Amino acid sequence: MSSKHDMPRRDFIAASAGLTLAGLAVSGRAHGEAAKLAVDGGPKAVTATAPTVPRFGAPERERLEQMLGQDTLFYWKGPQTTIFTERFKEICPLEHVMTCSSGTAALHIAIGAMGLVPGDEVITSPITDIGTVIGVIYQQGVPVFADLLPSELTLDPADVERKITPKSRAIIAVHLAGNPSRMEELRAIADKHKLVLIEDACQAWGAKYRGKPIGTLGDIACWSLQNSKHITTGDGGVVASSHPVFGPKLQQYGDKGFNRATSGWESFSTNYRMSEPQAAVLAGQLTRLEGIVSTRARLGNLLTENIQGVPGVLPHQVHTEDRCVYWFYMFRLDPGAFTCDRAQFNKALAAEGVPCSPGYIPVPVHRSDVFKNHAFFNGHWNLKESGMTDMDYTKVETPEAEAILTTGMRVVIHESNTDDQILQYAAAIKKVADHYKA
Ligand SMILES: *Cc1c(COP(=O)(O)O)cnc(C)c1O
Repeated sequence: MSSKHDMPRRDFIAASAGLTLAGLAVSGRAHGEAAKLAVDGGPKAVTATAPTVPRFGAPERERLEQMLGQDTLFYWKGPQTTIFTERFKEICPLEHVMTCSSGTAALHIAIGAMGLVPGDEVITSPITDIGTVIGVIYQQGVPVFADLLPSELTLDPADVERKITPKSRAIIAVHLAGNPSRMEELRAIADKHKLVLIEDACQAWGAKYRGKPIGTLGDIACWSLQNSKHITTGDGGVVASSHPVFGPKLQQYGDKGFNRATSGWESFSTNYRMSEPQAAVLAGQLTRLEGIVSTRARLGNLLTENIQGVPGVLPHQVHTEDRCVYWFYMFRLDPGAFTCDRAQFNKALAAEGVPCSPGYIPVPVHRSDVFKNHAFFNGHWNLKESGMTDMDYTKVETPEAEAILTTGMRVVIHESNTDDQILQYAAAIKKVADHYKA
């Protein structure tokens, strides 16, 4: 079957001249030399370039300039923190918003504020940044890993339900790559079993679930502002909630347990405060968010539309009513469909000019050494040694998560990309898939 078959004629017509050329290059072995892979010395499928877009400029400068006229750089009632919070609430209407030093901090604050006690279990995704579970471990909770949906890359609600025990207290839904988790199903499970539902939206700034802003579906939501995320302060985080009990506690759990509104020490926690210089940059960054994420959402979906139906290639799956903001794009390879392995596919695709890499994190979180050895606190895990949990991470099985990491191919989608580039990425994927077709 030629790749022409997989790319309907109307796609060529609808596309720009750039795509038509790239399309011809992939339209199969009939064109001889044109279909030769770039890795074998043939022409590259991706020739379009895009201007680089500066990440920082006038909006951040305006805030920083104003900040330098202040006589305090402290967050509490800080003008920049206040402006950020107002802007944040316009895009994500949550009552209590706490800025903090990282996404990891935001998640730790959430776990503190929800009242987790030693031995409580928190069900979450095994493919995530380890920051998702660091706070759980520090609060003496037990991360429990559930399996994922094959092409959505988010929690499989059925497996979440299977992982529930009398010790379960919360679910952390990781909106991996900016794709909204199945919140309706997770909410129903959480309600049925009286669990707290936390959203890890670190990769999902500006994402939407059935039209609703991500962060408003669970009980508490957490964002990262680390340098690689959609918007950034170098490092930083936000935790927010409208929950009547947990919401008012977010501030103190990020501020050494000190309630600044009442000037009382009400809990015990660490210091995760964000200062005004970062809040100033953040308030500026927020004005760019909609532009960044709406572009990424459109470009990621464009890639999907143009690789749909390529034999052996499974596109990143997004619900039609959701907005995935593609912190990365991941398609999966059906290993049986190709004569090459993933490393070779990746090498060939990269040679065509696609910014790609195989997999994501090397292994699911529970297969990392610190988990396999239950060695969180200098080689010890008091919870396990004292018999408060019988969790054995060497026995945890999440086959779909393993398969995602061994068959997934990650493509960088950036707001500076043009439609032509994305269409050429699609042409490159078809060209490589066609060449190595089993
Ligand atoms: C980045 C990230 C975190 C941690 O955020 P930091 O700001 O790096 O601490 C947590 N969860 C996910 C899903 C992330 O992508």
